Amino acid sequence: MRRRYRIPFNRPTLLGNEIEYIREAVARGHLSGDGHFSLRCAELLERELGVARALITPSCTHALELCALLLALEPGAEVIVPSFAFVTTAGAFALHGATPVFADVRPDTLNLDPARVAERVSQRTRAIVALHYAGVGCELEELERIAERAGALLIEDNAHGLFGRYRGRPLGSFGALATQSFHETKNFTGGEGGALLLREQRFVARAEILREKGTDRSRFFRGEVDKYTWVDHGSSQLASELVSAFLYAQLEARAAVQTQRARLWSRYRRELKDWARDEGVALPCIPAHCESAYHLFQLLLPNRRARDRLIDHLALRGILAVFHYQPLHLSPMGQRFGGRPGDCPVSEDVSQRLLRLPLYHALSDAEQAEVIDAVRQFRAT
Ligand SMILES: *Cc1c(COP(=O)(O)O)cnc(C)c1O
Repeated sequence: MRRRYRIPFNRPTLLGNEIEYIREAVARGHLSGDGHFSLRCAELLERELGVARALITPSCTHALELCALLLALEPGAEVIVPSFAFVTTAGAFALHGATPVFADVRPDTLNLDPARVAERVSQRTRAIVALHYAGVGCELEELERIAERAGALLIEDNAHGLFGRYRGRPLGSFGALATQSFHETKNFTGGEGGALLLREQRFVARAEILREKGTDRSRFFRGEVDKYTWVDHGSSQLASELVSAFLYAQLEARAAVQTQRARLWSRYRRELKDWARDEGVALPCIPAHCESAYHLFQLLLPNRRARDRLIDHLALRGILAVFHYQPLHLSPMGQRFGGRPGDCPVSEDVSQRLLRLPLYHALSDAEQAEVIDAVRQFRAT
């Protein structure tokens, strides 16, 4: 039975022009991919992040698959991924023939630990995938250096990090390739949706073909060829214009969204600080050189039992808090790729103790006060 929560973990919110833009898309008579709103979304991402090209996709997972295809992986190729990650951060590469090699994360930011990545590099390493957990940047300069030395590509799974920054530069603009998610649970949504970001021109032509069913249809639409045909491998990875119309309205409201999320995040931090200190709970950490995208607010409880008890404590009060991720190297698939207990001790430890609190644009001050009061009533020991 599915329980109903008064305060859910996430609630999608209309921010302004979503319905109007969907009407406009219908009136324009173009509902398939790469119409007016899809191109507006792509231009906005290109401008804000300073990348050569953004391609709107049906999901972040599809964009990660495009990354895998762009790598043209040979048998035995390895891709280094964090164990503490979303399933398709690794799975999209495995689907296209890569062996995922799991590296551990830092205990403070829960982002890839460059020292652990360096240990995992081999002659077969083709890419390193950085996930900016909760919207806080990985140590990108160190990861860039490791990737360069290994002759591998740095890829950013920037699903959490849109509009966050590392040393003043936007997350999503460091990797040769980067991906975004516009799933309902992310800061900006089209229901589903995603994007592939291409920092430089060198991958653009092939990415367009892979995304357009293996055809040169994108060039045809620009008038660069007089007919389009089957030229390479490919799939159908465009997002419907209905999704993009909704998404564009959300992206237009980015300043308000990010301000509100920063406000909610900072209030959690301020009002839970004393409780956390007394109960031995760690609050999220943002290094001084990072500007967060404020995707998540997570607690690290002293142990698994306390974490599970806090979930129940909040559920009794109508509040849904969730935990994620489970270490990928210990999943059934991870074990098929050689994952063993002890390989990534930090991921194994934090996954048992972590809890995410409700954080979404429409969370009211009164609702957040209820969450904070409920958490403060909880004794971890
Ligand atoms: C949500 C998420 C994804 C997958 O996004 P979809 O758009 O649902 O495919 C991938 N990576 C990370 C880090 C995510 O949080």
